[in-house]
Amino acid sequence: MKSELELNNTSMIDPFGRMVEYLRVSVTDRCDFRCVYCMAEDMTFLPKKELLTLEELERLCTVFVGKGVRKLRLTGGEPLVRRGVMTLIRNLGKLLDDGSLQELTLTTNGSQLARFSDDLFAAGVRRINVSLDTLDEEKFAEITRWGRLPQVMAGLEAAKKAGLSIKINAVALKDVNEHEIESMLNWAHGEGYDFTLIETMPLGEIDEDRTDQYLPLSTVRERLEEKYSLADIPYKTGGPARYVKVKETGGRLGFITPMTHNFCESCNRVRLTCTGTLYMCLGQEDSADLRAPLRASEANDLVSQAIDEAIGRKPKGHDFVIGRNQAPAVGRHMSTTGG
Ligand code: SAM
Repeated sequence: MKSELELNNTSMIDPFGRMVEYLRVSVTDRCDFRCVYCMAEDMTFLPKKELLTLEELERLCTVFVGKGVRKLRLTGGEPLVRRGVMTLIRNLGKLLDDGSLQELTLTTNGSQLARFSDDLFAAGVRRINVSLDTLDEEKFAEITRWGRLPQVMAGLEAAKKAGLSIKINAVALKDVNEHEIESMLNWAHGEGYDFTLIETMPLGEIDEDRTDQYLPLSTVRERLEEKYSLADIPYKTGGPARYVKVKETGGRLGFITPMTHNFCESCNRVRLTCTGTLYMCLGQEDSADLRAPLRASEANDLVSQAIDEAIGRKPKGHDFVIGRNQAPAVGRHMSTTGG
């Protein structure tokens, strides 16, 4: 049996030589929004008894950090709607103290930021991603079905005031926000936020046809280049975005292009769901159950072994296709796997 020290010293390297240093954790599959490209309006969520407790999530994250994870991103569903989530965040934040964890961050829809921003900063969070697809109140209500824009705007203000760096993530949606991208870019950079565009991915059944929503970012970039000077920069946050500097605004613009150009060759991520399922790729079905080995023993050897086995099966990449009558690449929604 490996000693605790040996366990702590192993790093996770997959069959393609990629080092896994980044864990995304979906702390809940529930959300207070119902974005049209993400969820069906009438979603069935997991029964509470299926969920890992916050203590179990913390234990799993700590095991991952012991095995070489340097960046943790909490996501969901909406991470800030899980009851007691601040306790988890505070405890995970302690891993930053000795440098074993380098960054603790989260992806949020912003609805709860007015309440939580100061606590997030106090817990060691320094950077957050806020998903926002439009600045038009009516359109916002249409896209999110249940959300209200002023609430998110108030959340952003609170986050800024608390000292958090903010990146706005917008899914580029044909006919919906495609003509607003320029104004969103100007607004985000004017506020001092980074701005990243994301291509919509075929994850889970929704109420609409994804072909009607899909807007390739190659098209968006060409259009932006008619007005702006975009210079590729090597800036990296550990995620899949590729960045340019926008000369006219002085800000950074990211492109996440899983459809037109995937960057699987540099993938350093795995994703843990709130039930303890580990997905080694966002766009593949293969997974590993970590809940059973976690619960089978108070020591972490079994779960550590299960993680090693899973990393040994991390696939080379995904191959998303969006087309008429095309089934989603995977059956689960982004809210299950964690965005
Ligand atoms: N509730 C949080 C939020 O809104 O950021 C975290 C979870 S949400 C699932 C994470 C990100 O995934 C959001 O930026 C959302 O826009 C994005 N997303 C959801 N479904 C997607 C899809 N099918 N394709 C691309 N991005 C998607």
